This record gives sequence, C-alpha cells and structure tokens, in this order.
Amino acid sequence: MPNKSFDVAIVGCGPAGSSAALQLARYGMKVAILEKGSMPRYKPCGGGIVYKALKYIPVDISSVIERRCFSVSLGMVSANKKFIIQRDLPLITMIMRDRFDLLLAKAAINAKVMLLENCKLTDIRSGKRPVLVTSRGDIKADFIIGADGAISTVARKAGWKETRRLVPSVNWEIFVHDKDLEKFDDIARFDFGLFSGGYAWLFPKKDHLSIGVLKTRSNRFLPDALIKGYLKFLGIKRVLHMKRYPYPIPISPRRDGFVKNKVLLAGDAAGFVDPITGEGISGA
Ligand SMILES: Cc1cc2nc3c(=O)[nH]c(=O)nc-3n(C[C@H](O)[C@H](O)[C@H](O)COP(=O)(O)OP(=O)(O)OC[C@H]3O[C@@H](n4cnc5c(N)ncnc54)[C@H](O)[C@@H]3O)c2cc1C
Repeated sequence: MPNKSFDVAIVGCGPAGSSAALQLARYGMKVAILEKGSMPRYKPCGGGIVYKALKYIPVDISSVIERRCFSVSLGMVSANKKFIIQRDLPLITMIMRDRFDLLLAKAAINAKVMLLENCKLTDIRSGKRPVLVTSRGDIKADFIIGADGAISTVARKAGWKETRRLVPSVNWEIFVHDKDLEKFDDIARFDFGLFSGGYAWLFPKKDHLSIGVLKTRSNRFLPDALIKGYLKFLGIKRVLHMKRYPYPIPISPRRDGFVKNKVLLAGDAAGFVDPITGEGISGA
C-alpha cells in the first residue's frame, strides 16, 4: 500500500462513507476509504431515494436513475383499501446501489480521496493515533469514521454496545416478462397487512422489480413464503429469475452516543434509519 497514514480513515464505501470522504477532502483533509469489497458491489437495498434525500446527495445522480416515481401506492390489504399519493415531484427516485455507490465513490476519488478496496477492517488499536488493523495491513489515522453499515465492526471494536434495534429484511431482485414489468410502471408501492408486524414493497427498476419485506416485530429469519405470498397477491405468476438478499436494518439510533475517543459513527452504523419506512439513504 503506497501510503498508510491519513487525517481521516473512513471504513465503508456506502453513501455515508463516500459523502463524508468527499466533504472532508473538500476541506483539504487527507482521507482514505477502506472498503472490504470491490466497487461496484451489490448492497441489499430497495434502492428507493425519497424526495427529501435528493438535496443531500453531493453529486448529479441522473446517470444512475432507473425510474422516477411520482406516485406511491399504500395498500392496507386486510381492510381491502388502497391510497394513491401523487405529486409533481418525484416522491421516490429509483436507483441500483451498485451504480449509485460507485458514482459517489468516484466523486470522492476525484476529490483526491484514496479508495482502498478489498480492505477489510478487523480490529482497532486505540492510542494517541488509532491504528486500523485491516486485511491489507495496518493503517494509521488521526480520526476514524465508522460508515460500515448495519453490522458495524468499527462500532464493536471501538467499544460500543448494541443499543440499536435491528430488524430483519430481505430484498429480492426479480426479473419478469415485459408485460408484468409494465403493470408496475413508475409507481412505488407499499403493502401492509399481508403478514403481521411488517410490510412488503415493490420498487420498479428499468429492467426488473426490487421487491422486499421488512418485519419490525421479529428478530428472526424471514421465510421465502412471505415473498411467494406477495408475488401471488401482486398477480405475478411467472418469474424469469430472482435473487434473494437478506440484511438487517437498524431502525433506531444508538443510545450510547455516536462519538468515542477518535471514532465517529455514521449512517447505518449509527442507526440513522427511518423507523417506519426503513429508509436510510438520507441518514447516510
Ligand atoms: C433490504 C433493505 C432494503 C432497503 N431499502 C432502502 C430503500 O429503498 N431506501 C433507503 O433509503 N434505504 C433503504 N435501506 C437502508 C439503506 O440500505 C441503508 O440505510 C444504507 O445503505 C446505509 O448506508 P451506509 O453507507 O451507512 O452503509 P452501507 O450502505 O451498508 O455501506 C457500508 C459499507 O461498508 C462496507 N464494510 C462493512 N464492513 C466492513 C469492514 N469490516 N471493513 C471494510 N468495509 C466494510 C460494506 O461492504 C459496505 O460497502 C434498505 C435496507 C435493506 C437491508
């Protein structure tokens, strides 16, 4: 590794990591992002950016927009009711996280941030200048930002206890016939009451559907029967190809603070996710 000493080392190349890196680099700091994967990488996510989040995104994202949804449907399945909200502004902008996160990472790199890929943080040695122990060797930094998501190693190694509420969720990327894809054009939908203590969503993308479920009243694994039931409810009979991506969502912030010694937590690592919608890109 060419240089192992930075003003700030940021762990995680999601939206929290890249936007913090970009901002700090613009202030003239020497910044590195340590990412355990290699960009672009898949992140389990519906990929829906709510309108309020758009103003926080530090780059033009038009090249990675899959669809703009000006309508949102809220289904109350057990009451057999559906509410459609329609606005002149895109209520939810659809992206795929691999391309979106890469775009943010490139903006950080252009601002002279060093991106260290395949660089997994395994430990932190505290001291006057903390040392990040990684799969690519030790790295020194004056400050560390833990932007390493819901299962944050930084938080654990820097001494945080688990005080966030983590709930299970699953996103499926589902490819269907064009006829079925057209049925769900440009409208984001949330359906409540199909199963207890949670809801399902359908977010249309350019060439497929991102469909997922979240349960706030369960710490347990979500069975595939939930998605099968939802597909049936949606009237999707034939799936060409589908892939399942489970991941927890922290729906409450940490109760023991966000800064310890020289470490700051951001995004999911801090628990900055909307407790009802599970939306965390704006918090990141
Ligand atoms: C199924 C699901 C659907 C969701 N849908 C939406 C949605 O539609 N809209 C929305 O706004 N939010 C959604 N969210 C929430 C959203 O995905 C997160 O809030 C957001 O990704 C948080 O960004 P982040 O940068 O904090 O962390 P992440 O995006 O999780 O990025 C963390 C990064 O850190 C890296 N990393 C982790 N550990 C290490 C390590 N030890 N060393 C180095 N690197 C490491 C990871 O590889 C990753 O790249 C969803 C979440 C889930 C699970």
